[in-house]
Amino acid sequence: MNIALIAHDSKKELMVQFCIAYCGVLSRHNLCATGTTGKLVSEATGLNIQRYLSGSQGGDQQIAARISCNEIDVLIFFRDPLNAKAYEPHEMNLLRLCDVHNIPLATNIATAEALIHALERGDLDWREIVRG
Ligand code: PGA
Repeated sequence: MNIALIAHDSKKELMVQFCIAYCGVLSRHNLCATGTTGKLVSEATGLNIQRYLSGSQGGDQQIAARISCNEIDVLIFFRDPLNAKAYEPHEMNLLRLCDVHNIPLATNIATAEALIHALERGDLDWREIVRG
């Protein structure tokens, strides 16, 4: 499965801790991330992560393009719900595209944990069929 990771600055430490906790599961999948998120997670876990540009440079749009092509199976996007970003409209589009393609999406750790357990159990295997 192709898993994309994005975390806003105030949520990066949470993303790192999440990936340390689920390093074993994540290591069995293809990971990609926006620039800084990918750097921090790979440094902390040793996981192999395809890194795109930073969110502010369009990295979220690079991931959106892959979602448009139905190439991403799970998106974990820890957003800062309190501070608006200048490029928020792009991020809203990212979330919209997940709904267009029925891509499992977690925007907080509670849902992310549920998704990781679902992934481990094989509950998301239908994505392989949809993706073809
Ligand atoms: P970053 O991008 O991982 O490069 O910081 C995510 C963001 O939009 O903050």
